[in-house]
Amino acid sequence: MSTIVHVVVPTPAHSSLSDPLTYASELPLPPGTLVRVPLGKREVCGVVWDAPAGEAAPMQLKHVGAVLDGLPPLSAHWRQLVGFAASYYQRSLGEVALAALPPQLRELDASQLARRLKRAAGDASAPPQAVRPELTPDQQRALEAIAAEAGPFLLFGATGSGKTEVYLRAMEALLARDPQAQGLVLVPEINLTPQLQARFVERFGADAVVPLHSGMTNPQRLRSWIAAHSGAARIVLGTRMAVFASLPRLGLVVVDEEHDPSYKQQEGARYSARDLAVYRGRLEGVKVVLGSATPSLESWQACDRGRYRCLEMPDRVGAGALPAVRVVNMNHQPRGTLFSAPLLSAIQARIARGEQSLIFLNRRGYAPVLACGSCDWRSECSHCSAFRVFHKIDRTLRCHHCGYTERVPRACPKCGNVDVAPLGRGTERLEEQLAELLADARRPDGTPVRIARMDADSTRLKGALEQQLAQVHSGEVDVLVGTQMVTKGHDFRSITLVAAVNPDSALFSSDFRAPERLFSLLMQAAGRAGRDAAHAAASEMWVQTFNPDHPLFVALKKHDFAAFAAQQLQERRQAAMPPFAFQALLRAEARTQEVAQAFLQAAADASAGLEGSGHVVVYAPVPMAVQRVANVERAQLLLESGSRPALQAFLSAWQPVLQDLRMKGLIRWAVDVDPLAV
Ligand SMILES: [Zn+2]
Ligand SMILES: [Zn+2]
Repeated sequence: MSTIVHVVVPTPAHSSLSDPLTYASELPLPPGTLVRVPLGKREVCGVVWDAPAGEAAPMQLKHVGAVLDGLPPLSAHWRQLVGFAASYYQRSLGEVALAALPPQLRELDASQLARRLKRAAGDASAPPQAVRPELTPDQQRALEAIAAEAGPFLLFGATGSGKTEVYLRAMEALLARDPQAQGLVLVPEINLTPQLQARFVERFGADAVVPLHSGMTNPQRLRSWIAAHSGAARIVLGTRMAVFASLPRLGLVVVDEEHDPSYKQQEGARYSARDLAVYRGRLEGVKVVLGSATPSLESWQACDRGRYRCLEMPDRVGAGALPAVRVVNMNHQPRGTLFSAPLLSAIQARIARGEQSLIFLNRRGYAPVLACGSCDWRSECSHCSAFRVFHKIDRTLRCHHCGYTERVPRACPKCGNVDVAPLGRGTERLEEQLAELLADARRPDGTPVRIARMDADSTRLKGALEQQLAQVHSGEVDVLVGTQMVTKGHDFRSITLVAAVNPDSALFSSDFRAPERLFSLLMQAAGRAGRDAAHAAASEMWVQTFNPDHPLFVALKKHDFAAFAAQQLQERRQAAMPPFAFQALLRAEARTQEVAQAFLQAAADASAGLEGSGHVVVYAPVPMAVQRVANVERAQLLLESGSRPALQAFLSAWQPVLQDLRMKGLIRWAVDVDPLAV
């Protein structure tokens, strides 16, 4: 006799098939078993979800196909994590569950899987005997607290204070208690953190540590996933997707650089891997350590409220002091100055001493706009409401939103004037102008200065980033110019000067999180300088600004994150902004802006009287900041509530209403819970 089983299958984002489907099975299948089932004309991978109902299956019910019984079932914890993520972030269970599995696993049949499993089995070699540095008193105290208390912990440590050593020791302590235990280490961007991975491998052995990120091939991902799921791997080190790794013996979760915006997924289920990591820790009774030199204001406030335990590590290992911060008041510089005289001479002094400088600007390309001198022509993208960026290197205009690229016109396309000029500056232009300004600068051996640029353009080719980093490390480069990419994670030992040449736009952004991001970026950048104690005394962070008295720069001068956070939280509290309120966005994309907004308005109108609506403010539909991308019009609607449960209840009640709204010309819509940019 066949019984009914409930199977979760990959379903479209908002389909009505959001609940598990029922199939018939001859065998009792435990929840978490991977199966292949018929769906329409296809056969798809699915996950058995609930305990078997024990009812006899009706005759007409389709049967489960192959059972991937080589794999142990996915745990109840894993299913709860996926179920929570789907419901909290307003997506279908099937979409989240299947996206959380490696793509290749979804395609394999039972015999192909059996071959993979056989290959994956093998004895792990003994971990190497790594040399352990002596712990600082700060590190010691942090580890004692992690051992004794429940957490979650916010490891608030200055750059260079040795947070990684705390992660490593906490992991060692876990494995000493239980050699079969597993750890999950999340990092924002794995390609930028090879050093972190190297340190885990050095301490625990190459077989014990498996990476999990989107830069891997499908077979690599499957291998890592199986190693984690089978319990063979001790540590999964990965990007946000790794928060869903199946780890049957999970004992510790670490989220490094917890403030980093890349923990928030920006498409599909827009989850925050940081927040899910905290949820997962609580669910599984496992300790969670969030680490940052500039914590998110959400986590900082959670410490204030006693929800997280803050572990402070203010001192840098090896007593390398944090660099002195020099704020240049650009109001006192001649108009149009790119590099103020004092900054320029500070860079020159470093070149002469054989030290390195790092200059950053958050804009790639040569100039953000190309403009005609005699009419109003600007290098707008014909598909987007954005300017195309001028890239001098290959004389192109490139749209950074849709990718539309054209040769730079010889003359103004509108009036024929040949005097078409760049407006504003990007990294390419910065590099060019710096080369002119430093044309006479000489290195200690009398050779000319060497300037390099690092941004998304210069590192597009595979291996280019690694090659450029190697050049910086080996001292082949004197001055490195780049976007914020250069400020993250790298350990440039002989950089003694870091400069932000034009950071002011973030102070006046419509995005209320822009100052938080800028402060974090500048602190991270400052952390690049003086990592060697030998160089620390001479290390400087330079900021050129028209607003030298802004509280952000005042706090930066003192490396005082706490003061900055207190000021920002006070502003947020007064304005009832997150973390004092909870937000969600409904985004719509359509053929025309009218349709996008009409959909949002209809959604708003239909929300009256729904559960929780009394505690939720529904704002008016507005066009998105970049209103049109690739000829698609975009608009959004903001929802705000002082109560997270009320907002959640409202969104759940709203979901079926939204699914029923049909509108001609509407392309897609999505809900973004806890959005990072509104
Ligand atoms: Zn013109
Ligand atoms: Zn475009």
